Amino acid sequence: MRIRAAVAEAKANPLLIEELELDEPRDDEILVKLVATGICQTDAHALHGRVPAPLPMVLGHEGAGIVERVGRSVAGVQPGDHVVMSFQACGQCAQCLSGHPAYCDQALTANFSGARLDGSRGVHRVDNTDSDLSGHFFGQSSFATYALTTQRNTVKVDKDVPLELLAPLGCGIQTGAGAVLNSFGLPTGGTIAIFGVGAVGFSALMAARVAGASTIIAVDVNAQRLALADELGATHTLNAGGTDVVEAIKQITERGIDYVLDTTGRADMLRHAVASLAPMGQVGLVAGGAPGTLSPAELALGKSVRGIIQGDAVPQLFIPKLVELYQSGRFPIDRLIRFYEFDDINAAFADAARGDVVKPVLRIAETGQN
Ligand SMILES: [Zn+2]
Ligand SMILES: [Zn+2]
Repeated sequence: MRIRAAVAEAKANPLLIEELELDEPRDDEILVKLVATGICQTDAHALHGRVPAPLPMVLGHEGAGIVERVGRSVAGVQPGDHVVMSFQACGQCAQCLSGHPAYCDQALTANFSGARLDGSRGVHRVDNTDSDLSGHFFGQSSFATYALTTQRNTVKVDKDVPLELLAPLGCGIQTGAGAVLNSFGLPTGGTIAIFGVGAVGFSALMAARVAGASTIIAVDVNAQRLALADELGATHTLNAGGTDVVEAIKQITERGIDYVLDTTGRADMLRHAVASLAPMGQVGLVAGGAPGTLSPAELALGKSVRGIIQGDAVPQLFIPKLVELYQSGRFPIDRLIRFYEFDDINAAFADAARGDVVKPVLRIAETGQN
């Protein structure tokens, strides 16, 4: 079928909206008509060659839409269902089988190779000179009017909540909230500092409130974002531009902080994070970062540093919980989102790069027109 998709034709170039040909879903695939998609930093990283995704490629990995058709072996999802798409995993390795698909042995191939796990591709140039065109980004390639996905990364959601609000649950919001609720398992009364409040950091902040954290410190250099952090329930905000972050955190907490979620990926912030910890405290890293040094002595008091992918979530279990939290008013994702028309995708990328928008969401189709 003919689709419209935003193609990343060449590194750092504007995305081009083009007509492409999409295959019918295979037996294990689901054809989704996109209603909206979030734009995540990883899309920008892929466009700029900072992650190993082969261009030209259809990017996008926070898609939400309506199931159009399903392959013969797909169960549990039917045409007309509202779905959110998340990251892809193999479903068969030890990590997948033990409930940690974000750390799938084949995570790189499944999400970044530009093809299905068997190496085939379902998206083509209209004139069929498609040897160069990649898709299946995070098992979806959601910058398009339609996407091929699988049951493993497709989550049925409540039809009462607008899909355009739910799109970013598939990556950025799940990452921040999952880091706090799944990876840290933040206990009631625990203390947390969040370094960098973008979409991931704000989601972590809202999740920390849900978990009943006693102290939530938002750290950033953007005064507007710190003001929003304040509104969303941070107990303290620190502008890293003019503050000794470690000293300030120790003044607030006296013995150091239990958890730091670092979304900046900066080596200096990692050292600040470790220095801010209470004994046995944990630092979680969600951004690929610059190399730095950390001496064993800095971790001596039982401190630990760990990488976190996708909030260690099982999307089918975690995303519906986040939807319920949104419905109960305790997880106001709408405060993070600004909407753009699909054709304005390059403006949305530019606004996100400048930090003018926390979570851009592209509107691709009306929910009503199925
Ligand atoms: Zn796996
Ligand atoms: Zn992402």
